[in-house]
Amino acid sequence: MGLDEYRRKRREDATNEPFGEPTAPPGQTLSGAFVVHLHDATRKHYDVRVEVAGVLASFAVPHGPSLGPLDKRLAIRTEDHPLEYIDFEGVIPDGQYGAGPMIAWDRGVVDYLEGPAEEELARGKLDMMLHGHKLRGRFALVRTKGRPGEASSKQEPWLLIKKADAYADADRDVTALEPRSVLSGMRVDELARRDELAAALERDARAAGAEQAAGLLDPGRSAVELATWTAASGAPADAVFDPRLDGVRVLATRDGEVVRLLAPRADGVVDEVDAFYPEVVRALRATCADRVAIDGHIVAFDRSGHPSLELLAKRVGLVAAGEPHRAAVTCPVALIADDLLRLGDADLRPVPLEARRRIACALLPPKGLVRAEAPLEGPLPAILAFCKEHGIDGVIAKPRRSPYPARRGGAAWSFVESGAPARPRATVDHSAAHARQALRRVTVTNRSKLFWPELGYTKGDLCDYYASVADTLLPYLADRPVILVRYPDGIDGKSFFQWNVPVGMPAWVRTLTLDEASEEPGAPASVSPASRRSRPAPKPGKRGFLVDDRSTLLYIANLACIPIHVLACRAGSLDRADFFTIDFDLKQSTLAHAVTLARTLRELLDAIGLPGFPKTSGQSGLHVLVPLGDGAHTFDTARSLADVLGRLLVERHPDIATMERVVSKRGARVYVDTGQTGASRAIAAPYSVRAVARATVSTPLSWDEALSGDLDPAAFDLRTVPDRIAELGDPMRPLLTLAPDVPAAIAKLSDIVTHLR
Ligand code: MN
Repeated sequence: MGLDEYRRKRREDATNEPFGEPTAPPGQTLSGAFVVHLHDATRKHYDVRVEVAGVLASFAVPHGPSLGPLDKRLAIRTEDHPLEYIDFEGVIPDGQYGAGPMIAWDRGVVDYLEGPAEEELARGKLDMMLHGHKLRGRFALVRTKGRPGEASSKQEPWLLIKKADAYADADRDVTALEPRSVLSGMRVDELARRDELAAALERDARAAGAEQAAGLLDPGRSAVELATWTAASGAPADAVFDPRLDGVRVLATRDGEVVRLLAPRADGVVDEVDAFYPEVVRALRATCADRVAIDGHIVAFDRSGHPSLELLAKRVGLVAAGEPHRAAVTCPVALIADDLLRLGDADLRPVPLEARRRIACALLPPKGLVRAEAPLEGPLPAILAFCKEHGIDGVIAKPRRSPYPARRGGAAWSFVESGAPARPRATVDHSAAHARQALRRVTVTNRSKLFWPELGYTKGDLCDYYASVADTLLPYLADRPVILVRYPDGIDGKSFFQWNVPVGMPAWVRTLTLDEASEEPGAPASVSPASRRSRPAPKPGKRGFLVDDRSTLLYIANLACIPIHVLACRAGSLDRADFFTIDFDLKQSTLAHAVTLARTLRELLDAIGLPGFPKTSGQSGLHVLVPLGDGAHTFDTARSLADVLGRLLVERHPDIATMERVVSKRGARVYVDTGQTGASRAIAAPYSVRAVARATVSTPLSWDEALSGDLDPAAFDLRTVPDRIAELGDPMRPLLTLAPDVPAAIAKLSDIVTHLR
């Protein structure tokens, strides 16, 4: 087991698939998660993936699973996939391995019946009980002997077999009857045209009477208005019925990547509960509509498929205890959508209930993590008898043509008891145990994984470092786009920019879309991978992360993000620079020369009235950061200032400084790099660790230290910097608050330049 082959087959910077690491399993795997993808690649096929030893053992099933007992379906064992792949759905880009759309056709929990899955896989027979949305009951995966010559083939032929049990049904073609994703609700052929689908649904809603929407997506906690009902002994003649399932009522909203689950309590307090139900958040993010609001219930289902408040309470406890994966496996949940209130820019509350529900059923699948079904119709006594038989305590009766009752005095709903015997119910308390911050606890995985082989530093050391410097580092990241570069195997392994939202990202992690990078004039036609790496350029639709609390910082550290790159701008004014950087890049030169240049730069800055703040780059050189105040200046202004200062440095020290772009012409001079300033240019943040052998940290310095002559940048690493901060504080902090007179500085600088000529 392992992910080497998975990674070898994929370009981490080009695929949208997760690129995660194996999760250390807690001993042997007796149960776990499973997912079945429908993958329309070169050939359409199903991929059955079951959790074994912290990864997903994967089998390509050309004809898909069958419910027919003893029906044998060929299943080719393929490379193991990372566990995060459970949450994956998307169109794999052209030219990449497996290019084409892939939906999560089913997912759920697998119990291994004959012993630990590790042993079963090795002996070539997995006896499984699947608890999915579509696949339920006993299945087996059995390795075939294979023909002579096949033994050497990497792709092992296995068979997927449905065992005879109550869920077996030879006449039911489950793949044809249930084609929709359990995540997004889309069919595989719809995935590439999600915008079209959403627009069609919104048109449908407007035709049915929806109004232009305002509000609703971000209600204050006191403004959550969900329909209520009153007890009644009967129902209006035109009523339809929803069974009252034991669960937690929520207003679920999605606005782009921001998903909220708001649960009003009986006392009127509203809990934000999204952190307890990450798979529901993931499913809401997967739907075709960018903006939705749903009135629904979060329900936990036991192994026999019955709603259970006890299980839901257990689930909340497990998540609060920092075990979200175990919670998802032992206490799976779904959001049952009872009503659709908003879709795109359409407010559906004035729309008649039956049209609202019809559109909800078109948006959401009947089986899945967020789902909708048509209400029950028929004679009330028969429906109540059905409920009583299944332990459901009653139904909500809703007039079929009524608008949503919380608005404009629509006909109120009524609750009709079924007469099912009362039973004790667990209370699901989201507020117990966890200031909210406790919920944002990040569990560091694979702490002992070696990230810096030379020093023996691990992933745990990285996460501990970022946790310990959080108070000092976070002000430099707050409200600023952060670019993630992940090193899941440490500094010697593959690394990649995380441009997409990682699948399974918690709802509380914030991102923002970055604009297309403007082409930098005069940029060299080809750049080495190393220099490209130091200057990630956002592309259209790429995302930066907003890291403004400890949990988010630890979350990205746990993603194996070693260096933290920031843009010199703030969210809301991405075209305005609030500082610029001059980078003294040593290459073949010496630190002493960089120090000489830094000294001259400081003199120049003093002369024009700008402050400057030096730091080690964390590699070999020095950075000087110059604040520009509150973002009133364009990147062009910032870049011009940096360029003129750079040219003055080169004119004064032509023997040790150069701005020559062509590396071979630089000689043994310090490269004065002013190109780190630009709307698409990111620099290593102060206190960022670098992915270099010595685990050095980009460390802010006082000018005295920087110019002292005995500076040793290698002395600042992830083990020493926390003590340094405790002892000396942070010499760079004024960078964030100073607002120098930039126009005056520009005038003085042009005086200096004119004087020279
Ligand atoms: Mn596939």
